[in-house]
Amino acid sequence: MSYLDEVFGLTGKVAIVTGGGRGIGQTVAIGLAKAGAEVVIIARSNADETVEKITAEGGKCYFVRADVTKEADVDAALAEIMKKSGHIDVLFNNAGICKHQGTFEASIEDWREVIDVNLTGEYIMARAVGKIMADNGIHGSIINMASMSGTIANIPQWQCSYNASKAGVMHMTRSLALEWAEYGIRVNSLSPGYIATPMSVDTPQELKDAWLPLMPMHRMGKPEELIPAVLYLASDASGYTNGSDAIVDGAYTCF
Ligand code: NDP
Repeated sequence: MSYLDEVFGLTGKVAIVTGGGRGIGQTVAIGLAKAGAEVVIIARSNADETVEKITAEGGKCYFVRADVTKEADVDAALAEIMKKSGHIDVLFNNAGICKHQGTFEASIEDWREVIDVNLTGEYIMARAVGKIMADNGIHGSIINMASMSGTIANIPQWQCSYNASKAGVMHMTRSLALEWAEYGIRVNSLSPGYIATPMSVDTPQELKDAWLPLMPMHRMGKPEELIPAVLYLASDASGYTNGSDAIVDGAYTCF
């Protein structure tokens, strides 16, 4: 076995990816499978495409339907995964939504929906998976999807609920890392900058034109450029990395 496989490899591990049916989740799921993990996709709509892409390459992957904001859904999904796979070693807590709205235009329901998916949904998933890891003596890794928007507030679009949700994810991550260190469960977050996915590609061209001059590298990131950071956080390579936030934003937050 090579040094890289020994340290970054995930052979024998079971990794859950929420929101893995498309976008960043799909690309990272493929990366986790290539590193040897059995990948389980959790999403509300079908994730057949991801499952097919991974299994066509000889990887292991299946899909379990659940809405991460619903505790009963999540509990049923995790029970099914434990029955099928026997353990859960990695959670890439990635499902999220964004609403571009001025605060005066957004309703309280809009705010609640974004906080519910991005913050409470990640909390429900982390809490349920953390409990399974603790109860089974699994020294697992939880990677919560934050964003550079948890560190800076984006311009020119207004997205107060999203920014607040991602700042919440970062501090939830630190809190859980401290609380669960005694169980050997590590909790870190990932903060990408603008990444070209359905969430960002579908945004109006005038917005993307406004973003470009703000990007020190003059381009959006590619979803595959997040894979190495997730592999690091998921694997033994990051054994002493806990409660941290990995910023992968092409230097956007440096000024
Ligand atoms: P996409 O919109 O492409 O994918 C989001 C995924 O989340 C979908 O698979 C969706 O599946 C799933 N999802 C949404 N709500 C729920 C829910 N309630 N329960 C279960 N699954 C849900 O987004 P991206 O790939 O761009 O983003 C993924 C993550 O990365 C998000 O957390 C986002 O905030 C974060 N991020 C994205 C950046 C970007 O520039 N793209 C930058 C920084 C962070 P379905 O609808 O089928 O449930």
